[in-house]
Amino acid sequence: MNFNTQLLHGKSVGAYSFGATLPSISQVSAYTYETSEQLEKVCQNRAAGFAYTRIGNPTVAAFERRICEMEGGFSATACASGLSAVVFSLLNILQSGDEIIASSGVFGGTIDVFRDLQNFGIQVHYIPYLSEENITPLLNDKTRAVFGEVISNPGLDVIDVSAVAAFVHTHQVPLILDSTTATPLLIRPLKLGADVVVHSSSKYINGSGNSIGGVIVDGGKFRWNPQRYPVLAEYKKFGPAAYTARLKNDTLRNFGSCMAPMNAYLNTVGLETMGLRVQKECENAYALVKALEQLPDVTVNYPLLETSPYQKLATEQLGGYGGAILSLRVGSKERAYRLMNHLKFAHIATNIGDLRTLVIHPASTIYIHSTEEMMHAAGVYDDLIRVSVGIEDAKDLIADFTEAIAHADEEAE
Ligand SMILES: *Cc1c(COP(=O)(O)O)cnc(C)c1O
Repeated sequence: MNFNTQLLHGKSVGAYSFGATLPSISQVSAYTYETSEQLEKVCQNRAAGFAYTRIGNPTVAAFERRICEMEGGFSATACASGLSAVVFSLLNILQSGDEIIASSGVFGGTIDVFRDLQNFGIQVHYIPYLSEENITPLLNDKTRAVFGEVISNPGLDVIDVSAVAAFVHTHQVPLILDSTTATPLLIRPLKLGADVVVHSSSKYINGSGNSIGGVIVDGGKFRWNPQRYPVLAEYKKFGPAAYTARLKNDTLRNFGSCMAPMNAYLNTVGLETMGLRVQKECENAYALVKALEQLPDVTVNYPLLETSPYQKLATEQLGGYGGAILSLRVGSKERAYRLMNHLKFAHIATNIGDLRTLVIHPASTIYIHSTEEMMHAAGVYDDLIRVSVGIEDAKDLIADFTEAIAHADEEAE
């Protein structure tokens, strides 16, 4: 089955009650049972069923099965937000004293929560880019994971997933990747050797910008040595399901960061059109990039450009797509603001992966809590605009940006 067919007819589709084409929304907190014995069995995982929506819910489970299939994973666990997916993918294996290595180009919110982890004795070491050369000097006997983004947002660095996975595995360290900006259409990192993939489903999976959510997809292949990962020791009996067993029975349940049933439903609906949307958004992004390159005093960054150090890797690894995010450097913050304020179709908003084209000035918004040094390491500058390209007609987007920059420069004169 090819991608768009699988989105509609994959093996995880179906078995919805009454032959419904979509899962029903189980908008309840709790499930009742005839006898206390039955509920006891469900609570002890000795019988299938649901007890309480924080712990599990049929609509959420239906979404988890869908995204798991599309990523080619072993199991998936939905979370309240993308950031909760990021942080619980790690807290599920870490304890105080552990260290992780991460690329400095990760999402601003991820940098913020990694700073919070330091208060719990978890040290995050940053490197400019995930590669054997950069990781090697930081590896030690406390290293418990390497974390990065397949296509960093908004730096647009592309990771060589197979190479990094193969290398970290020689040190018994798992590779955990945030694949939000890449989506399963461009890449299935688990198939290239990554161990855990996380998504902010708020973005391309949902696609319409109508609900916050996240998901952790476990590849089920990494061997969690109980000496190195003592928190997983009691789950070792679950074999390849150890990571997910702890996530569902302990980490996520206890921290209470569950996905709402309504959001799971909206994400399932969104997922069905993800292939079409993301393809169109990538094509629009490329068309816009080609037009923006012609504008005066504008520098465009996009992985498929000849000027990007990642052109070859992106072309080979991302199925010919470059993603739907591009960035522009326009010389100054003032010029960036003037340009953005003149756009008619592209909305100023802090989101990506919407149907609508969105622009933002990351330095004054998403990276507001970062130092200038961290910002530059993440590829964020005072004159940088991030564009999340939508499904409008490319012609209109090109005209919008072209006119906006002309007006912005007139206004300055
Ligand atoms: C948005 C985003 C997140 C955080 O997701 P939320 O759903 O907003 O919590 C994490 N990683 C990346 C790459 C993102 O773009």
